[in-house]
Amino acid sequence: MKTLILALALAAFSASAAPTVFTNANGYTSTDDGIVQFESLVVGDDGRILAIYAGLPEEVYAGAQVVDLDGATVLPGMTDAHAHLLGLGALRTQLDLFGIDSLETAVSMIGDFAAANPGSGWVQGRGWNQVLWESNEFPTAADIDRVVSDRPVWLRRVDGHAGWANSKALELAGIDNDTPDPIGGKILRDENGKATGTLIDKAMYMVTAKVPPPTKEEIRAAYLAAFADVNSQGITGVHDAGISKEHAEVLISMADDSEISIRFYGMVSGAGENLDAIGKPIVAYGNDRLDIRSVKLYQDGALGSRGAAMLKPYSDDPENRGLPFWTADELYEKVAKADSMGFQVGIHAIGDKGNRMCLDAFDKVQDGEPSDKRHRIEHSQIVSLDDIQRFAELGIVASMQPVHATSDKNMAEDRVGPERIKGGYAWRKMLNEGVVLASGSDFPVELVNPFHGLYAAISRMDRGGMPAGGWYPEEALNRAEALHSFTLAAAWAAHQEERLGSLEAGKWADFIVVDRDSFEVDVSDIDDTVVLQTWVGGNKVYDRADNE
Ligand SMILES: [Zn+2]
Repeated sequence: MKTLILALALAAFSASAAPTVFTNANGYTSTDDGIVQFESLVVGDDGRILAIYAGLPEEVYAGAQVVDLDGATVLPGMTDAHAHLLGLGALRTQLDLFGIDSLETAVSMIGDFAAANPGSGWVQGRGWNQVLWESNEFPTAADIDRVVSDRPVWLRRVDGHAGWANSKALELAGIDNDTPDPIGGKILRDENGKATGTLIDKAMYMVTAKVPPPTKEEIRAAYLAAFADVNSQGITGVHDAGISKEHAEVLISMADDSEISIRFYGMVSGAGENLDAIGKPIVAYGNDRLDIRSVKLYQDGALGSRGAAMLKPYSDDPENRGLPFWTADELYEKVAKADSMGFQVGIHAIGDKGNRMCLDAFDKVQDGEPSDKRHRIEHSQIVSLDDIQRFAELGIVASMQPVHATSDKNMAEDRVGPERIKGGYAWRKMLNEGVVLASGSDFPVELVNPFHGLYAAISRMDRGGMPAGGWYPEEALNRAEALHSFTLAAAWAAHQEERLGSLEAGKWADFIVVDRDSFEVDVSDIDDTVVLQTWVGGNKVYDRADNE
């Protein structure tokens, strides 16, 4: 009887299990054996790939639905191996004042945004820049009060170093004529000593401390906005570099409700309370949309602000070597804890000392051998030439962001000088040693677009084509290596290479259709690639035709 029920169930399943055959594709995928080209892609109705073919399908797929791609280029969906989805989501769900060129326009946008988002809660936004306005003066609380006076408004300046509050926000922050300037900050005041509404640097905390943490609904809305945004740019997977226990709860419920339109790979913030609450790795949850099996630590700061920990002083600041966040023992304890709980660890390290301290900690935890945890160093920006082979020996993933090199190039060389820069953004040296190189963008620090990353990886030039021929062009990747770093290598860096990262039988049908062949066009055209369609698990999650 049992057998009969099973047979009936299988019959019912196969009757509805018509595959989809995508034909006339100009398809490319990275594989373990290099790039494979294909013309047909067959996807089962469970969303997994049944086969790819160099020409027409060699098997008959009864009842198959056929999609003619008319020669369009197909690539695996891109994975961003280091990014911040909630930061992106906040940009998409808060008021965006980037590039607004008059105070009047900004004020009317604030009024419209508040009306469109009713309630008594905070109105938040960012991106204003008074230099673009005729007055060229910092804005005032009174400007906002004209349109929103009954609820607090807080808007960060384009550079994040100033904020613009209305009177309600100033009142909630307790700022009046008698409030002194905090150390490291300034409350702008009129001739009577009254706060005008613009707060500089540390004075911003007086307001931000009063902004309630986002509700679960707001977190969910920010994730949804970010998922839609990245899907529209050809991304099907993101390694999110920092989630809290509250974020994890929201993500699990979103996965339960089929609301995650990417492969979300979460890195837990820190080895403390978030990790304790989450407890154990989450793998392939919610139809393989959610993994939380990594822990994000920080070992130093950034190069621009000279917070990156260097073995020797900065070339342009001889008294300063930056500062490691943790001692060697502290870092080891954190890595060992996360490792023993079954988590991968990804440590932010920018300077050569920061990177070395991470390698030392991994070395000790792994007894000098590669580990099945596949630990990573996030950014791996300035690495001592002596340490590059240690990445390979210990099996440490170099999680790097190609656009950082072309954005930072002048500043980076000022900071570390001509010798140490040889181990800077050194993708080729990493690959030559056999290191797994996973690429990302670090959005919203940089733009989301993975084709900007591919272009930077291949050209070592910024989008303006500078410097001609590339910055330390010997570190550039070829086109196949660059695609690999955004697809199969990124999947490997997330323990997902069996299910994601390439278009091969048995893996999920996560792929994109684009307007040009990034293996054939001029290098300078790669960054202008337009994504036409994005498919995740055999479902179309973005179609440019619907958005024109
Ligand atoms: Zn980051």
